[in-house]
Amino acid sequence: MEDRYGRKIDYLRLSVTDLCNYRCRYCMPEAGVAKLPRSGILSVEEIGELGRAAVNCGVTKIRLTGGEPLVRGGIIEICRALSSVTGLRELCMTTNGSLLERFAVPLRDAGVSRLNISLDTLVPEKFASVTRQGDLDGVLRGIRAAEAAGFRELKLNTVLIGGFNDSEIENFVALTREHPWEVRFIELMPMGECARWDAGCFLSGDEVLRRCPELESVGTRGVARQYRLPGAPGTVGLISPMSHSFCSRCRRIRVTAEGRLMGCLHSREEIPLRGLHGPELEAAIRRGIAQKPERHRLTEGGSETPREMNEIGG
Ligand code: SAM
Ligand code: SF4
Repeated sequence: MEDRYGRKIDYLRLSVTDLCNYRCRYCMPEAGVAKLPRSGILSVEEIGELGRAAVNCGVTKIRLTGGEPLVRGGIIEICRALSSVTGLRELCMTTNGSLLERFAVPLRDAGVSRLNISLDTLVPEKFASVTRQGDLDGVLRGIRAAEAAGFRELKLNTVLIGGFNDSEIENFVALTREHPWEVRFIELMPMGECARWDAGCFLSGDEVLRRCPELESVGTRGVARQYRLPGAPGTVGLISPMSHSFCSRCRRIRVTAEGRLMGCLHSREEIPLRGLHGPELEAAIRRGIAQKPERHRLTEGGSETPREMNEIGG
């Protein structure tokens, strides 16, 4: 379905939990977030019904996110329920990778087609520090497990943080010489925990091009500008919500773990979907698509949503 600005909306990002086993400094408070009662979040059945309704409204790709989707009880059942929806072409997941060693094969068997794995540093001590409790080696084992399970076109998500990982840009880019991955650099967005950080933490994606001038543009893919080192099997993606707005190319809607539809990551407007079924549910999704804002105003006063990133799903 098209929104009122002529954008084709075919991509749903669905948060299955706002809980996480990490506490990334830019995303989650150190103490974590209060656990919603089980009845406060969408059940496996509700997620299946939502998936079917979304596909009837034109969605062909669903990405599961969170919080950390792999800490959600019943995640494999959720994947099975969604991958069996007729008309859904892709079921993807964004994960911190910490539990992938255990989950890669079951996810593949449950019909997940692609994975994005978040990785902000290749240095073990820095990884433990930014995630406040993560183990880099466990994530690297998770990446290997995902490849062994047959996941292709892995994407690594790296949030660029000035003074923290800008010194590692070349090392991340070098990974694309050895692996057929897309290493995606994401500009830090001033939301929640990092909204008060110093200006120096917020780097433009163009810093990657400045440091790696040999990168050649190969076009765009979704909201990413794509580049490649000459002859490399992998690619580099720049996702630049701050410096190069991609709102005119945005094909997404989002649903929070509590079942509230958001037309934009940064918008205050939400449409509650819980309790709706059949034609009513589809009508609410169509309303959400129709009301999708033209663009975010991140650089003109910040995100409008009072929600934190872990509630919406990045
Ligand atoms: N826990 C999973 C993970 O980390 O991949 C999925 C949820 S996480 C909120 C999704 C993505 O959002 C991650 O790649 C994370 O690095 C990114 N993210 C979180 N806060 C951000 C911020 N303020 N600006 C830019 N990206 C952010
Ligand atoms: Fe958890 Fe992902 Fe947020 Fe890190 S970015 S705290 S892994 S939800």
